[in-house]
Amino acid sequence: MVAKTVPVDPFDLVVFGGTGDLAARKLFPALFHRYQAGQVPEGARIIGAARGEMTQEAFRHHTRTAIEQFVDSTDRPKADVDGFIAMMDYVQVDALSNAGWAELGNRLDGHADRVHAFYLSVAPGFFGPICDRIREAGLVTPATRLVVEKPLGRDQESARALNRQLSETFEEGQIYRIDHYLGKETVQNLMALRFANALFEPLWNSHHVDHVQITAAESVAVGKRGAYYDRNGAMRDMVQNHLLQLLCLTAMEPPAKSSPDAVRDEKLKVLKALKPLTVAEIEEDVVRGQYAAGSDVPSYLDEAGDPNSRTESFVAMKIGIENWRWAGTPFYIRTGKRLRTRASEIVIRFKDAPHSIFDAGVGKLLGNELVIRLQPDEGIQLRLNIKDPGPGGMRIVSAPLDMSFAEGLGRSIRMPDAYERLLMDVVRGDQTLFMRGDEVEAAWAWIDPILEACAEGAAAPHTYEAGGDGPSDSLMLMHRDGRRWREIGA
Ligand code: NAD
Repeated sequence: MVAKTVPVDPFDLVVFGGTGDLAARKLFPALFHRYQAGQVPEGARIIGAARGEMTQEAFRHHTRTAIEQFVDSTDRPKADVDGFIAMMDYVQVDALSNAGWAELGNRLDGHADRVHAFYLSVAPGFFGPICDRIREAGLVTPATRLVVEKPLGRDQESARALNRQLSETFEEGQIYRIDHYLGKETVQNLMALRFANALFEPLWNSHHVDHVQITAAESVAVGKRGAYYDRNGAMRDMVQNHLLQLLCLTAMEPPAKSSPDAVRDEKLKVLKALKPLTVAEIEEDVVRGQYAAGSDVPSYLDEAGDPNSRTESFVAMKIGIENWRWAGTPFYIRTGKRLRTRASEIVIRFKDAPHSIFDAGVGKLLGNELVIRLQPDEGIQLRLNIKDPGPGGMRIVSAPLDMSFAEGLGRSIRMPDAYERLLMDVVRGDQTLFMRGDEVEAAWAWIDPILEACAEGAAAPHTYEAGGDGPSDSLMLMHRDGRRWREIGA
């Protein structure tokens, strides 16, 4: 059983780059699941728009193949797939010329009152030209929405230029900047946990929280995308967006209500309160790494195709938030490729109990830990100190209260992919889980000086073992503060 779904009104979703990888792997499977759940109504249309010549029939065949490849065979009865691909249409459009735009206009004609969402699943260099042509073709109505995804600039200046470019065609209230981490069920649960329970919020501050850890570990390498990745690195690819967004949701003040701007205002305040790092502090508090070759896998430098590259495939950082709630409580973040396993989580480590009434021999009283797991198995775990069961006297052990959502709700649930939630939010017009332009710029404003210092040689990358935990300096970053990372994927 899945959560109750409320159908949305009929809409037209135009996917620029509809023949590309993101559309096939993520967007169409997500829309298919929503269709299956009864949320996508009769009459909705999904229009692929891309440069290649293709008939409607060929595009439907392409979509069917994508569904067959990326949706589990038990989840896609033929009748459902047939019904879904009947919504598909295709228009050949060139982002860089007039070709195809009049035809796209014709397809959308007669449906001016319904939501038209334009999803730009294309390289970011096309964002500006496509927006210009949407405007020039007269396709913008109050019910038009634009969806874009990272990379949203590569520094504050380019992010600002991109925001300006988008705003020539769309109001901020029409722009949906996707960070798919925010569409994860557990991330939304972080808000429910904090603001729907009276239990945690009184403890959610530097008086009671020793530190916070945020990890997004990947086991995959950069592979064939090496040359592309090497122009960006983990700081741009993961920290500026996903990790800082998770940090904001963890650290923000309770918004007065759950409206999009109330939430985004609070996230923006956190970004503005991040402690700027001097070059000396970057040397101390930022660790960068590149994975070494393993017995049968190439090194980062091999895959990047540049033996002198100083781009990082791993980052760990200690971050301070300069406000009343968090002064004195560090946030440690780390992310990297080719690590032990794929695992993303937020760990709230509470302070140790102030005094132990037990004899020294009962075992160490570890501070409580709240673990919010984003992947692979979304769930929440609370580590408590309990008495080791048995008649042998008092011994204290740390044990998890574990709630995997799949088990905890007592019913079989399929965890929806983040794109399912986010795409439906676009259609519904709910921007809560999307980044506002000023947030993106504020995140770059904080990270730009770090990127500049690194480009000039600060925090030079160390190699780390393929399939390990990252460079040993990342462990030292915690160690020297008397703390330790939770094991990746524990
Ligand atoms: P892709 O190369 O697989 O597809 C690109 C699409 O753009 C194709 O449909 C192509 O026809 C279309 N296109 C190219 N030139 C065009 C033109 N002149 N006019 C109209 N259409 C044109 O790319 P992708 O992997 O699907 O990624 C698309 C974007 O999404 C990129 O910016 C990427 O960084 C971003 N992204 C991708 C992923 C992913 O998982 N693939 C994840 C996050 C973000």
